[in-house]
Amino acid sequence: MCGIVGYIGKRQAYPVLIGGLHRLEYRGYDSAGVALLSDTDQLNVYKAKGKVSELEAVASEKDCSGTMGIAHTRWATHGGPSTKNAHPHVSESGNLTLVHNGIIENYAVLREQLQKRGMHFQSETDTEVLVQLIEYVQTSLGLSLEAAVQAALQRVIGAYAIVVLDRRTPNRLVAARKSSPMVVGIGEDGKEFFVASDASPIAEYTKQMVYLKDEEIVVCERDKELRVYTLTGENVPVEVKKVELDLTMLDKGGFPHFMLKEIFDQPSVLQDCMRGRVLPEHGRVILSAVTDHRERLIKARRFIIVSCGTSWHAGLIGKQLIEHFCKIPVEVEYASEFRYRDPVIYPDDVVMAISQSGETADTLAAIELARKAGAFVFGVVNAVGSSIARNTDTGTYIHVGPEIGVASTKAFTGQVCVLTMLALTLGEAKGTIDKKEYQAVFDELQLIPQKIERILEQNDRIAVLSKIFTYAHNFLYLGRGWNYPVALEGALKLKEISYIHAEGYPAAEMKHGPIALIDQEMPVVFIATHHQLHEKIISNMQEVKSRNGRIIAIITEGDEVVKQMVSEYIEVPDTLACLAPLLSVIPLQLLAYHVAVQKGLNVDQPRNLAKSVTVE
Ligand code: GLU
Repeated sequence: MCGIVGYIGKRQAYPVLIGGLHRLEYRGYDSAGVALLSDTDQLNVYKAKGKVSELEAVASEKDCSGTMGIAHTRWATHGGPSTKNAHPHVSESGNLTLVHNGIIENYAVLREQLQKRGMHFQSETDTEVLVQLIEYVQTSLGLSLEAAVQAALQRVIGAYAIVVLDRRTPNRLVAARKSSPMVVGIGEDGKEFFVASDASPIAEYTKQMVYLKDEEIVVCERDKELRVYTLTGENVPVEVKKVELDLTMLDKGGFPHFMLKEIFDQPSVLQDCMRGRVLPEHGRVILSAVTDHRERLIKARRFIIVSCGTSWHAGLIGKQLIEHFCKIPVEVEYASEFRYRDPVIYPDDVVMAISQSGETADTLAAIELARKAGAFVFGVVNAVGSSIARNTDTGTYIHVGPEIGVASTKAFTGQVCVLTMLALTLGEAKGTIDKKEYQAVFDELQLIPQKIERILEQNDRIAVLSKIFTYAHNFLYLGRGWNYPVALEGALKLKEISYIHAEGYPAAEMKHGPIALIDQEMPVVFIATHHQLHEKIISNMQEVKSRNGRIIAIITEGDEVVKQMVSEYIEVPDTLACLAPLLSVIPLQLLAYHVAVQKGLNVDQPRNLAKSVTVE
């Protein structure tokens, strides 16, 4: 979701803040703003609807001096995207200014109370209530900025990451969080501080990071040690982590879009994902999470996978892997549904949270529920040090590097790769996996990166193929067995970036409804690799063909039967059935990408979508 950057130190703040906002653009946003305490102690606030570059255009003609400031990219929740609603918001007196990520649920009540006490509101946001409340508490009780933030936040219900600046105390920034991410970087000689929603805007300046926990407040004061408090005012020891971020990974690396770069990253990042885990010298997969919690995991009565979007599709593949290799029943739940149902969770369940960002609000809430029920919580996350990573009993990072394109690609294959390694390790520990099968999957998994390379070589051909289909308003994606979740994922990719309506279905379900849609206009993508149920899926293809549907088939190399049947096909190398998703999803990612490019759309930041969904 939105991004926050704050700076206090000796540098000019504006370049740090704007550079940081650019780094956070991947999260998705609709407006941007910056507040600077100028060299002449003026509080200058500039905002713009749209991109950070539009904010830069506004600010370029103004005074951008100052060594402290806060900046924000907003993803509107309360009040539409507009300059007025963009953050930072300024208090009634003009002394305080604040940026916020999240939602204040009791904002309406608070707003009414503050209005009754004579305060005026300039925006429709929930956020403005916060800055006014802090000011009200500060003036009526005569508190310091940090004490006022503390007192005000105790009256707030909801989720927040905030940074506040008081122009009367130009020596400090105060930040706090609850259910929204926030990290503080400690810069040169411990005398400058960076505050941000994640480490990417900070990493070029320092590796020393402090991740705030829920309901913690941090005071970043010039030339002083960082101070962290709880909402009730108790001191919290400052825990500094060394975070290494490969900054070249944050660039497009010569590709026209992050999404294409990330699709092409897959062979190498899957190697990273397996590094130190798939060990050819030992002929085994070793996952530290399983080594450390072997008994607990072996005894699991059931796995419940909670996730959203693409991660949910990876979860569906995880279900098949864990049930097949470990003989443990698995349920896959949308986190947003799970959290508000009254789910039955047993203490001997393992609840697995899958999330690229590790900040997905619904998934976080779902694991909270699981913890309360005493289940063991396992995270499968990309973003190191993220909230989910910190709120689970154990987990396995997917280690595919920052994913910037809003439509997830390498995180999906990374998640499937981790789930495969987990199923192998746990199956071996439980003794439920056949030794020969273990060996076959172990050997084949290591060949997946080079097989993905071979698919990527067809990129130009897929670009040409995509031109034929830009006319379409609807697509159907069909697959069975291991490839059924891939059909769902292919349809989601197309929807997300090309704005073409697409549905994924189990192929055999076609007859129970979607077949009514098929005519000569309707492209139908069949994921028909040479595995279980191949004959049956060929019959489904015949059914589409006889209704003049336009088939695009994803097939195993050399599948002459399907090649004879359809005019459009993309071949993928042969592999084991359980690993088929890792290959068959690649052409679907490329197909969606090229259709969107042909349509001239913003591939990396599709409309209405956010990368890291930190609101429910
Ligand atoms: N709820 C706030 C707003 O609508 C913050 C949204 C965000 O996280 O960007 O302004």
